Amino acid sequence: MKWKEILIRYGELSLKGRNRNHFVRKLRTNIKNAMVDLKSVQLRAERDRMFLIADDEADMKEAIERLPHIFGIQSFSPVAMCDADLDAIKQKALEVIGTEETAGKTFKVEIKRADKTFPYVTGELQKAIGGHVLHHFPELVVQMKKPDIMLLVDIRKEGAFLTSKVYKGAGGMPVGSNGHSLLMLSGGIDSPVAGYLLMKRGVSIDAVHFASPPYTSELAKRKVMDLTEMLCSFGASVRLHVIPFTELQQAIVQQVPDNLTMTSTRRVMLQIADLVREEIGALALVTGESLGQVASQTLESLTAINEVTATPILRPLIAMDKLDIIELSQQIGTYDISIRPYEDCCTIFTPSNPKTKPKLERVLHFESFFDFQPLIEEAVKNREVIEVWQQQEKDNFEDLL
Ligand code: ATP
Ligand code: MG
Repeated sequence: MKWKEILIRYGELSLKGRNRNHFVRKLRTNIKNAMVDLKSVQLRAERDRMFLIADDEADMKEAIERLPHIFGIQSFSPVAMCDADLDAIKQKALEVIGTEETAGKTFKVEIKRADKTFPYVTGELQKAIGGHVLHHFPELVVQMKKPDIMLLVDIRKEGAFLTSKVYKGAGGMPVGSNGHSLLMLSGGIDSPVAGYLLMKRGVSIDAVHFASPPYTSELAKRKVMDLTEMLCSFGASVRLHVIPFTELQQAIVQQVPDNLTMTSTRRVMLQIADLVREEIGALALVTGESLGQVASQTLESLTAINEVTATPILRPLIAMDKLDIIELSQQIGTYDISIRPYEDCCTIFTPSNPKTKPKLERVLHFESFFDFQPLIEEAVKNREVIEVWQQQEKDNFEDLL
């Protein structure tokens, strides 16, 4: 038997009451975008679950590989469907078990009877279907706890759904179902992970990156584009704004004493990011800051940096250990890109001894001798905007050209 349908379970989504329709619609769109090049794929969304239908076997295989990346999916299973009729179910059960390696395996039947009018109770069904399977696959051994093969039979009014495979989904909520934010994306390990975590909570993102050519190279930019592309695989497309930052960094180095340049640099970055945020209509900024990791990430520093804006700054890594962040970055595939050796604008201008407890009055004092505003506005205006597409979307896009 060849699988032709995948049952997609929403999990957390189903808890969301009135917002559910919105979430389901977003999830449907995101799955559709992720599968856009798989021509035989169709989607059918229901209130509490979704079906992906693919007639082509290769499409089916590819869909199974892509689904674990899409947020808002709790789990999914290729399913076989038949009439809600005991003989039909017994027959289908054999076909489903036929897709498994059965030699030396343990086995159990699990029944869900959503259609309470179905004329058999759960125990009877378990016996009848299980007995039929064992008759045809005598090598199987029944085991109630943690069997190797679990045959799930879901009986509903519209028919019976059978599967023996449950794949874990990415969890979280569909990207775009919880608003839009601007991620401050360096080439480091932390900020891509911060972006990933926000996307997992359903937030779609634009990214902003500060580059200081010629001190930072084209390869550093390439790295950030690759990170952005990796983030795209978890949701929709991400727009990357690259800010020309050299002049401002030089101005800061000239105006502010060495041990406070880091604080001023962060403050200026935040002001620029906030202007971009406003322009694109995003509600919050996201950073990869983690408490105590470096001098600019003490509570005193964060307070002095925050002072430039009232916009919410989301810091999903604030309480995470570096090793846990690294592990997550390895899991999501950004680590290998992040450790490429190209210099970031901050690394190059890093003072030898940055203040861990910068005094806001001192920072304001030194900043007051220079009008940064025109340079800030110019940097926003002269930014380069790069549309980074999801791989599949990009292929499709190129087809259209
Ligand atoms: P990361 O690994 O994300 O670079 P980090 O531990 O190196 O973080 P910092 O260099 O202090 O920490 O940067 C703190 C945060 O400021 C980053 O997580 C990122 O959100 C933002 N940031 C730093 N440099 C840049 C940059 N060049 N462009 C955009 N955002 C940046
Ligand atoms: Mg960094």
